Amino acid sequence: MMTQNALKQHAELLDGSIVAERIKLDVKAEIEILSREGITPCLAAIRVGDDPASAVYVRNKIRASEEVGIRSEHHALPATTTTQELLALIKSLNSRDDVDGILAQLPMPSGIDESLIIEAIDPAKDVDGFHPINIGRLAMGRPALVPCTPAGIIELLNYYEIELKGVNACVVGRSQIVGRPMAQLLLQRDATVTICHSRTKNLPAVTSAAELLIVAIGRAGMIRRDYIKPGATVIDVGMNRVTDPAEVVTLFGEGAQKRLDVLAKRGSTLVGDVNPAEAGEVAGRLTPVPGGVGLLTVAMLMKNTLKAAKLRRGI
Ligand code: NAP
Repeated sequence: MMTQNALKQHAELLDGSIVAERIKLDVKAEIEILSREGITPCLAAIRVGDDPASAVYVRNKIRASEEVGIRSEHHALPATTTTQELLALIKSLNSRDDVDGILAQLPMPSGIDESLIIEAIDPAKDVDGFHPINIGRLAMGRPALVPCTPAGIIELLNYYEIELKGVNACVVGRSQIVGRPMAQLLLQRDATVTICHSRTKNLPAVTSAAELLIVAIGRAGMIRRDYIKPGATVIDVGMNRVTDPAEVVTLFGEGAQKRLDVLAKRGSTLVGDVNPAEAGEVAGRLTPVPGGVGLLTVAMLMKNTLKAAKLRRGI
């Protein structure tokens, strides 16, 4: 018998794991062909300090590299590393012919000038797509290495054959890594794009006009029923750790028990920027958290590393 909760939920869940696996399989197949010609793409990951989240992210990236056949280097440096020392490392990685991609895991410790670090990376090896040259190329609609999270969202939308041309799309959040490049990619695909941020007046009035709503703000469950146009496609980029059981109940409604169990076991549970219980009732399609956008980011990093390796060799 179906539970009341299952009856209420009607949004189709867009499964990021299927799309991420397909991307990685495609990358792996291309790398196998390249390796027969003696080419093995290489990704160098730089991590400074001991932020536990950054350590997990870099570990996942290294593991994914191994899965698809990309060689990886992990430069784990102490928190005392100076900007000058980092710049020297990047200079040496830029000059090495065997290194195709360089990523500097953010955030860096407060003493380090992140902009200087990002701008020091050779744009041809900038697999995160954060260098001003790549951002500029993206804004001009020219080929570029594009930030992984928004590029992954485009892959997800393509996979589910979600129409973008002429569609009224709203991006909430204007960060350099998600919101802004997301808006550019949607514009390139002929969507009509509105960008919202913390100073937007009457946010629900703007977001509820959108057929496609993409949210990247870092506020657990902030996007509620009244922010969503009935039937809209909602992409939830947020990754927030919730530790309060009452908040879990508000966010997950009748389906909260599973999350309360996770909370009891691990001390927190992962929640997006969209209220999943309410969005599940009003949206037409919705990405779950976890299991939606998060998995795509690492897969796209693999794709960008392959792309950089090919472009650098004129393949
Ligand atoms: P960010 O750099 O902190 O930017 C947040 C953006 O949201 C800013 O533009 C901010 O506006 C806007 N904002 C904040 N509060 C708002 C509010 N109440 N109403 C409207 N807009 C508001 O964040 P980010 O790096 O883009 O990340 C956003 C979320 O996505 C986080 O939860 C992060 O963990 C997650 N994320 C996930 C992935 C993934 O792989 N799934 C990748 C990257 C990020 P202002 O510009 O006006 O301050």
